[in-house]
Amino acid sequence: MNFDHPPPPREPLPVTSAQILDGKALANRLQDELKQEVYEWTQQTGQRPGLAVILVGSEPASTVYVRNKRKAAHAVGIADQLIELPAEITQAELVAHVDRLNADPQVHGILVQLPLPRHIDGELVLRRIRPEKDADGFHPMNMGLLALGTPKLVPCTPLGVRELLIRESIPTKGKTAVVMGRSNIVGKPMALLLMAKGPGGDATVTIAHTSSVDLPGICREADILVVAAGQPEIVKGSWIKPGAVVIDVGIHRLADGSLCGDVDFAEASQVASAITPVPGGVGPLTIAMLLRNTFEAARAIVHSAR
Ligand code: NAD
Repeated sequence: MNFDHPPPPREPLPVTSAQILDGKALANRLQDELKQEVYEWTQQTGQRPGLAVILVGSEPASTVYVRNKRKAAHAVGIADQLIELPAEITQAELVAHVDRLNADPQVHGILVQLPLPRHIDGELVLRRIRPEKDADGFHPMNMGLLALGTPKLVPCTPLGVRELLIRESIPTKGKTAVVMGRSNIVGKPMALLLMAKGPGGDATVTIAHTSSVDLPGICREADILVVAAGQPEIVKGSWIKPGAVVIDVGIHRLADGSLCGDVDFAEASQVASAITPVPGGVGPLTIAMLLRNTFEAARAIVHSAR
């Protein structure tokens, strides 16, 4: 998907009965809070949290994502560096860059922008990142800790959704949550967070996927419906329980250049009690959580070295 050009002016959102969950505004608040925390920590320790971003090739969407992440890091006082590598880089050369960053004491968070070129084994590269520096939370160690209920660094998109649920005071305890999608970066960790004990968790969780039968029926059970299927506007208003909270993780560019999510917003917003828009919903929270993870990694690494 190409996000290089800003979307054309959008039609005003349709009249809606649902509360719009403004992820952009929340992300701005979270980044302001983090900026203050980073400032105080830097004053106390003399250290700056450091994020290193590896970008392989020049895929336009990845280039824009990386630019946005670096800009946000800079704005909160995180030192960021970009390692731009050619698409033809070998696996061994890429791994050598990861190893160098693993050993660099100025670097506390490492992010390898996905997707990687086809000749690279992405799993192997992600597993090479030291778990303590795994800003995206994709390392098997971090996924395992999350599954065991003792999370350290958690994948940013589901972490952002949980933060939104907590900050918007959306009750999750004892609620029925349905997560559509079972990917390792969104669906699976999202389900683990929703079922975890504590704020934003304690829900009864169902995961729906491509082999699920009667998707509309499964979705209609949900008090909280998180959609991360990667299918434009697949979830219709008739799939939603009246009053449900709908979180739309998907993002797609349509032929006319506008953006949409996995949920048919016009229909869903007539039925839901609250809903995230696309754009301006989950996306900005993902970046805010990447910065939070980098800061948490820096604190843990510096603290353990003392
Ligand atoms: P993915 O393609 O890896 O996974 C999609 C999942 O949805 C799969 O597990 C599949 O089983 C399931 N699925 C696909 N079609 C389905 C269907 N018809 N019915 C039921 N289940 C179905 O995608 P992903 O990486 O998890 O991302 C999902 C969406 O979220 C994409 O649109 C992606 O662009 C978006 N995304 C947004 C952010 C953000 O920050 N806003 C971050 C990550 C991903």
